[in-house]
Amino acid sequence: MTFDPRVVRAFAGTRKRSAVLACAAMLLLSASGTAAAAQTAAPKAVVVIPKGAVEVHLAPSSSSTDDSCDPTASLAPQSTMPIPGNMPQGSYMAQILARGYIEVGVDQNTYLWGYRDPATGDLTGFDVDMLQQVSQAIFGSPGHIDYVIVPNKLRAQYVQSGKVDILAETMTITCAREKLVDFSTVYYEAGQRILVPSNSDITGKQDLNGKRVCAPNGSTSLQNLANLREHIQLWEVDNETDCLVMLQQGQVDAISTDDTILQGLAAQDPNTKLVGQTFSSEPYGMAISKAHPDFTRFVNGVLAQVRADGTWASIYDSNLSAATGTSAPPPPPASYR
Ligand code: GLU
Repeated sequence: MTFDPRVVRAFAGTRKRSAVLACAAMLLLSASGTAAAAQTAAPKAVVVIPKGAVEVHLAPSSSSTDDSCDPTASLAPQSTMPIPGNMPQGSYMAQILARGYIEVGVDQNTYLWGYRDPATGDLTGFDVDMLQQVSQAIFGSPGHIDYVIVPNKLRAQYVQSGKVDILAETMTITCAREKLVDFSTVYYEAGQRILVPSNSDITGKQDLNGKRVCAPNGSTSLQNLANLREHIQLWEVDNETDCLVMLQQGQVDAISTDDTILQGLAAQDPNTKLVGQTFSSEPYGMAISKAHPDFTRFVNGVLAQVRADGTWASIYDSNLSAATGTSAPPPPPASYR
């Protein structure tokens, strides 16, 4: 999370002042000789709202449930996959190969999916591993990647503007987003749930009426909550870890976003629990510019291989099994248009 620098400055200011106060207290103590005089007020914990956290008022809308398109049907792969290191002339993959690396968009604080391992400093997680498969298929090895950390609400924009070639960031394929970018076939099926403190009485979405609920901005999660038509006090934040801080500080009663993300937050705080059934469908796709349909087809070829040869299952097992308590289910099937 990020803190408001003004609060940090205010802290720095009070430190000097409290040093002066402490000297004054000692003088008083030696003058009066009583312990009572030394009873200065106990320091109060300053509770900070994460920077960027705001309460929002969203009207119900069909944008997250829009079924005007078949959002998960993607472009079919080429009939044969090129050999790594030898991309077809004139293809977007050949441009990437010549450049020497893929520019990829990820998150760095979605534990289990796209996060920076504090021990190694490396980005890791399910999304990162999927992107490494694309590097493997173009270059013959996984490391040819330049990572760009993309804020949630700018995911489509970074892809559209060409700042990244491809983005894997727990991004739900929707008809509204499909107007802006192309998506690969589905590489994971998530669904929205609820995370609460272990001692909470909330057991599902029916209990959210009148409650303060946090979700990341730029996410389908916020709109899904608004669509419940309950009187929910919605808080949006820049990063889902900010939601966890707000839950820990008692500033919200629940967090509601994808089960995948909540499993990562629960793994970081044993005093929380996931409750209720999933109440939305969040199929994840890798986002690619509409200007490069050959690259979308290629990535779908990579995903077809990854599903078929057991790589998808081993990526699931190494990233998610400990948190979900299950070994890999069958990967989501591909659908082509
Ligand atoms: N899957 C949801 C979305 O794409 C939530 C993702 C997130 O908050 O990282 O909006």
